[in-house]
Amino acid sequence: MDTSLENSRDAKWRVDLRDRRPVKERTSIPRVVMPMLPAEFRVTNNDEVNEGLSPEQASIEARRCLDCADPQCVNGCPVGIDIPGFIKRIEAGDPLGAADVIKLTSTLPAVCGRVCPQEKQCESKCIYNRMKKQPVAIGYLERYAADTQLADLKSHPGDRAFTLPEPLNIRVAVVGSGPAGLSFAGSMAAKGYDVTLFEALHEIGGVLKYGIPEFRLPNSVVDAEIEALRARGVTFVKDCVIGKTLSYEDLRAQGFQGIFVASGAGLPRFMGIPGENFIGVMSSNEYLTRINLMGAGRPGEDTPVLKGHRVAVIGGGNTAMDSVRTALRQGAETAMIVYRRSEDEMPARIEEIAHAKEEGVRFLTLHNPVEYLADEFGRVRAMKLQKMELGEPDASGRRSPVPVEGAIEEVPVDLVIVSIGVSPNPLIPNAISSLAVSRRGTIEVDPETMRSNLSDLYAGGDIVRGGATVILAMGDGRRAAEHMHAALYGPQKTSRL
Ligand SMILES: Cc1cc2nc3c(=O)[nH]c(=O)nc-3n(C[C@H](O)[C@H](O)[C@H](O)COP(=O)(O)OP(=O)(O)OC[C@H]3O[C@@H](n4cnc5c(N)ncnc54)[C@H](O)[C@@H]3O)c2cc1C
Ligand code: SF4
Repeated sequence: MDTSLENSRDAKWRVDLRDRRPVKERTSIPRVVMPMLPAEFRVTNNDEVNEGLSPEQASIEARRCLDCADPQCVNGCPVGIDIPGFIKRIEAGDPLGAADVIKLTSTLPAVCGRVCPQEKQCESKCIYNRMKKQPVAIGYLERYAADTQLADLKSHPGDRAFTLPEPLNIRVAVVGSGPAGLSFAGSMAAKGYDVTLFEALHEIGGVLKYGIPEFRLPNSVVDAEIEALRARGVTFVKDCVIGKTLSYEDLRAQGFQGIFVASGAGLPRFMGIPGENFIGVMSSNEYLTRINLMGAGRPGEDTPVLKGHRVAVIGGGNTAMDSVRTALRQGAETAMIVYRRSEDEMPARIEEIAHAKEEGVRFLTLHNPVEYLADEFGRVRAMKLQKMELGEPDASGRRSPVPVEGAIEEVPVDLVIVSIGVSPNPLIPNAISSLAVSRRGTIEVDPETMRSNLSDLYAGGDIVRGGATVILAMGDGRRAAEHMHAALYGPQKTSRL
């Protein structure tokens, strides 16, 4: 538990706020609707689509929560946030206290409140589902509490200053500044470690910066969380590629006693079909990085990016939705999702699919590209799509797509963005020959402690899981911090923290 956060507030942070308001009155309140920018306006810019709840909306939504005696929503949250605890704080008019409760288990609540797939996690377990009612809007409330705290810190930076822990004078290094690295850095800094985070790119934030677009997660939100870590003493070193600029041995020679690798899964996958090397066929990773990180398309920026009139994005995950909605904002006349299963099997968050549809994205489900065709200049001009139907469930439990014999159509396109998944970044696994790595290229760790076969090297997030989620990456960072702390500081001394 992050004890410094606990101590930063009134020690009675967990009070029983249950009142006797009748259950029927609570359950008769309809779920709040998130205010958002109109679709025709938002495709003209990069402004955040969801505008956030007002204090009145948050208070009414919080009233819906029944503060269940055995809250299943908590089991649905990968880091076990005390969900009724924070929601009841909001109901009591204490959003700052609510944010403190969340921060006991989650480092980046303003991020998670925006991008977590709540409908598959906490909200899927809410008791309202059993009543055939819409679940409590846990994600919206998390965002509300976190945003209120960020705004409060901005306007009264001195008022809620925390006490820095006594330094332990032990240096630890973090490789990669995505949610796993940031979460680990925050947990270790809170315990008094001297934390240095190394990032290969010129921006801190990992996928939160170079992948997820600002219309879904503004950079200012990520930056505010990074500043909070800086204030806790974390040192950030950008433009430093571990395994190239500095080796594992260099880090050890510099006195780092523990190393947490959180280098992510940024290696794009392709389908291996004819025409993937034509001009105008690229990975979503390249497309989004050019635009989000390098500023392509913004006035005054040098980085080029191909613009398409007819853009096809291959895939059905969050990355595909982000790419297709970005293409619309880059001026595409037609932007379409090509997905080999049906919409029910799409892994993207339901909200992103709904937003994409509102913005005019076409959905070509049960279609799979089999070949791209180019013009005389080598630029893609069309794709051949195989029509699919659903067969038996596969290992993932989803019905597998089966080609419909002879049903192939040609669809004109001038830009194709391939978004069918990612593989772990190979640099660190390749650079440390003694490190145990799986056949998939992920770093092998003990799932309890996140420790690798090298006693001072821990790992977590996508480099261990393959492409996963922000909250799972954060949970890994937190768990690794607890276990590295126990290993470095010794169980006999940890009681003081
Ligand atoms: C476009 C997109 C949209 C997504 N949307 C969602 C969503 O809505 N909800 C959700 O939960 N998840 C989403 N995800 C997945 C989620 O972002 C990832 O699971 C998460 O970011 C993984 O965190 P991480 O810390 O392991 O790695 P990353 O965020 O990938 O960060 C790894 C960092 O390590 C750096 N690095 C790599 N190698 C080195 C090295 N050798 N030296 C130094 N630095 C190095 C990289 O530059 C990078 O900054 C999305 C992913 C993408 C790509
Ligand atoms: S399950 Fe739903 S109603 Fe019960 S505590 Fe969790 S959010 Fe509140």
